[in-house]
Amino acid sequence: MTNPIYLDYAATTPLAPEVLEAMMPYFSNEFGNPSSIHRWGRKAEQAVEESRRTLAEIMHCEPNEIIFTSGGTESDNYGLRGVALALREAKRGNHIITTAIEHDAVIHTATQLRDHYGFDLTILPVDEQGCCRLADVEAAIRPDTLLISVMYANNEIGTIQPVREISNLAHTKNVLVHTDAVQAASQLEVDVTKLGVDIMAIGAHKFYGPKGVGALYIRKETPLMTMVTGGGQERGRRAGTSNVPYIVGLAAALRLTVDRRPNDIPRFNKLSSRLRQEILKIPDSKLTGHPTNRLPNHSSFVFKNIDGNELLMRLDLEGIAASSGSACKTGDPEPSNVILALGYDRAWALGSLRLTVGRQTTEDEVEKACEVVTRVVAQMRG
Ligand SMILES: *Cc1c(COP(=O)(O)O)cnc(C)c1O
Repeated sequence: MTNPIYLDYAATTPLAPEVLEAMMPYFSNEFGNPSSIHRWGRKAEQAVEESRRTLAEIMHCEPNEIIFTSGGTESDNYGLRGVALALREAKRGNHIITTAIEHDAVIHTATQLRDHYGFDLTILPVDEQGCCRLADVEAAIRPDTLLISVMYANNEIGTIQPVREISNLAHTKNVLVHTDAVQAASQLEVDVTKLGVDIMAIGAHKFYGPKGVGALYIRKETPLMTMVTGGGQERGRRAGTSNVPYIVGLAAALRLTVDRRPNDIPRFNKLSSRLRQEILKIPDSKLTGHPTNRLPNHSSFVFKNIDGNELLMRLDLEGIAASSGSACKTGDPEPSNVILALGYDRAWALGSLRLTVGRQTTEDEVEKACEVVTRVVAQMRG
């Protein structure tokens, strides 16, 4: 078999060599506990605080508005549950709004808050291109609404949401805004002043950093109930000895991502448009998500009367790593909730395919992938 082709950068990305290099000393010589008074501790603490400043500079916030977590999922959990519980305790209300296409890290947290903590929850629909409508947000806000959670860019269909407009609207009604920027951070600006959000989640492994580390931006003076209790780390907001090498890796990866963006984005756009151009020549195929207002590296499709899981397995046999949507759903025979939310019926929704390019993707790989997908879909139909 020829070299395998990885087109699943939305599921995870390889660790950038520069990031690994930045992390290495903190696995060996610089092993101190950042809470210790002595020099080993101070060095580790400096590394963590330097990383926090790097993130703050890129995200346009203050360093103490950032909490390090174990990844995108935990950041979403912390941002929603921690803030919702604290706001309710402050008698600010009991109602949460989110959308039908959020990542499970948000949806399952929101439904748990509804089913086990007694919050009211409104799940907003999206339009056929996966955009949340401002009019729906406006209509859903009630006097007791605390929080709205709307993702920055969708992992399955790439659509970018009008986060800025939603924040503006929410703030006129005294409602806080959380955004899941985990997928977006690899390519879009994560500037909280521009987005206007109060809470934002990111995770390093989506932008060439290590798995198992993330960050939560939480605007100062936002009430937050500590979800991990213990020592006083992260200013008492999340206990536990800091994961120093991974925090250093997170900051190095985000810095590198921002620095490389001017090179990466035009390349991603070019590779993705080639993919779309060829794949959409396949009969009974459609692009899912927004045609233009989407992540540059992201192409997603549905094919009528094709079993998406079988397609993925056949592509894997041909050496092509793709996805049908969220990595967490692989092996699940049900159509994705996100594709269903766009209004596709089962005959279309089961046949979804996501191809996402990245720094290592070459033009030759894209050509080869187009050829293989076209052939395999034809074989499956034939
Ligand atoms: C990957 C992803 C997550 C989960 O992040 P982990 O770091 O893998 O836990 C959450 N939301 C979105 C949009 C994602 O793409």
